[in-house]
Amino acid sequence: MTPSLVCALIASASADAAPEAARAQCPYCGVGCGLELKPPSEPSDPQWTARGDRHHPSSLGQVCVKGATVGETLHHNRLTTPLWRESLDQPFAPISWERAFAVLVDRIRTTLASQGPQGLAIYGSGQFLTEDYYVANKLLKGALGSNNFDANSRLCMSSAVAGYARSLGSDGPPCCYDDLDHADLVFLIGTNTADCHPVLFQRLLKRKRKQKEALRLVVVDPRATATSDPADLHLAIRPGTDLVLLQGIGHLLLELQALDERFIAEHTEGFAELRELWKQWTPQRVCDLCGIAEADLRQLAQWWAEASGVLSLWSMGVNQSSEGTATVAGIINLHLATAQIGRAGAGPFSLTGQPNAMGGREAGGLAQLLPGYRFVANPEHRAEVERHWGFAPGAIAPAPGLAVWDQIEAMERGELGLWWVAATNPLVSMPALDRVRAAASNCPLVVLSEAYAGTETAEVAHLLLPAAQWSEKSGVMTNSERRVTLCPTFREPPGLARPDWAIFAELGRRLGFEQQFSYGSAAEVYTEFTALTAGRVCDLSGLSHGLLAEHGPQQWPFPSGSEPGSGAARLYTDHRFPTATGKARLLAEQPMGLAEPPCEQYPLVLTVGRYLGHWHTMTRTAHVARVAKQHPEALLEVHPTDAARHGLTDGAKADVRSRRGVITARVQVSDRIRAGTVFLPMHWGASQVNACEANRLMHELGCPLSKQPELKAAAVTLSATS
Ligand code: SF4
Repeated sequence: MTPSLVCALIASASADAAPEAARAQCPYCGVGCGLELKPPSEPSDPQWTARGDRHHPSSLGQVCVKGATVGETLHHNRLTTPLWRESLDQPFAPISWERAFAVLVDRIRTTLASQGPQGLAIYGSGQFLTEDYYVANKLLKGALGSNNFDANSRLCMSSAVAGYARSLGSDGPPCCYDDLDHADLVFLIGTNTADCHPVLFQRLLKRKRKQKEALRLVVVDPRATATSDPADLHLAIRPGTDLVLLQGIGHLLLELQALDERFIAEHTEGFAELRELWKQWTPQRVCDLCGIAEADLRQLAQWWAEASGVLSLWSMGVNQSSEGTATVAGIINLHLATAQIGRAGAGPFSLTGQPNAMGGREAGGLAQLLPGYRFVANPEHRAEVERHWGFAPGAIAPAPGLAVWDQIEAMERGELGLWWVAATNPLVSMPALDRVRAAASNCPLVVLSEAYAGTETAEVAHLLLPAAQWSEKSGVMTNSERRVTLCPTFREPPGLARPDWAIFAELGRRLGFEQQFSYGSAAEVYTEFTALTAGRVCDLSGLSHGLLAEHGPQQWPFPSGSEPGSGAARLYTDHRFPTATGKARLLAEQPMGLAEPPCEQYPLVLTVGRYLGHWHTMTRTAHVARVAKQHPEALLEVHPTDAARHGLTDGAKADVRSRRGVITARVQVSDRIRAGTVFLPMHWGASQVNACEANRLMHELGCPLSKQPELKAAAVTLSATS
């Protein structure tokens, strides 16, 4: 049976019919593996089983522990009915959807009257399907005139979005997963791919084992991880020196005469300034700052110079930085200057965290964006979207909206009348959590639409709306290699749960926009959205639910009339870039370092990350017995020198203190972390057994261009817990 037939069967199944198997994209990380989902054998058993889908071109049947156990999580701890309380000191009480919409309509109108559109904000999620993103943005930016729609992608890869757009003229990763099979140097910077994008890493590892000499792996990370273990070279740089390292590689590539002069002249601009900057970053200066051996830096540059295909992979270690966008430019500079882009095995490849962060970018799911990789600040873009959406000229406000940290500060000042959080748990994932908690508690109406009950964010909410999750609603996701997968409905939503897009559409109709939100299905939403991408870099206008159901996942660009399977594996193969001149931009930017460097009082740098088995704030993975057993608690990795200096022993508890507060964690003394740096996972929120709110300690300062907070580094000190 083809995937299309499976989906079609499920789509037409009546409520009484026995559930059938389905194929979908994994709802965890941005690798976007294909899953085959099998229904329980007994009707009374709620547990589906998942395994890798051999037909999915991105993963070819491979799957990691998270994807393999997702079926165990779907029925746990679900929110099944709207809940309401007037104030945070009251208990929640169940209400009908009718009453919930009445509250929303009333409070939105009141806020518009008293504070204007700026008083409304939504904070969404890369867990949204593209249809959810699209309708939420249409409602807030189009119908209500507020661009304050942001998403947790802001915490994950907004520096990559800004970096691609500045250097190449548009967002959009130019590479594909097949490039892992063609590169002869894979440069992994700021990414623990083995734990965070495991199926991709296993693909790389398999090739490395087979073709030892033909593939060189270089890893840049202050910690030794499962990613660096098989590497040919591990550069354990000081946190905050990534851009210094990149400029140092440029310096040596100049010295080695390894640049592609013809490519630079024909396809780039800005080289003269970049060359002057690179000249300043001598190996000794770079290695002193990064804390690495000069021989290692020279080895890396030599390998880059010799390689026929260099593939750079990065994720939050680069993006979550106060100079994240400049660091992305630093990576892209090296690729452009050596013509390592637009061909097999070469290119700057950002790996997204959330499963549909890419779809969110396509649908305009950040405060500065509009659908189709358009920008709020561009009058032509606004006019195109207003026409398509059926709103009057000027309906979309001309200035970018509030990014998520700006939303927090607006709540602190009492400037938001409604903060709507959807499918995410900012009371664990945001930096400076005490400020976030206090700010949200200062907002007159906090709405949380969520599949799961009892998340930390529910503590600051007044209205909880039960959302159907992936598996209970149809829609599409786009993974990191621009591949779009239809995820069909294969289970009934519990209780009164509804798809997010349907909640936003219903609210739009009740606010008086019947025509603009008269969708009968997610397929209709998707068709309206893809038409808006025609002619854009992310042209999806040839895609529909029907085509994806019949022909399986497709890569974009996929213009109207495209043949299934004809989507481009790589962008910019003609070396023409979507800038005014058709040339990519080389950007010369001086490294600035950490926003909060260590000091006498806080002498260590805390960096946070993820464990292999857990997903973000553990809303789902906490219920998977084998994962809970594998990772029972957060461990504070401390180098032996630092442990001795602070009187800590392995297995004991330590207080970790930053300018924002103190938390307690169990110490793991390890020489796998660079001295001067300590590590904690970010998963354990306040409601978890063994709570360990690492992000409470982190600061909110971020990249001025991407507005992505520097979640990877904060100055801390340690002491033994008394
Ligand atoms: S690698 Fe990512 S997408 Fe693939 S199965 Fe694991 S969590 Fe899911």
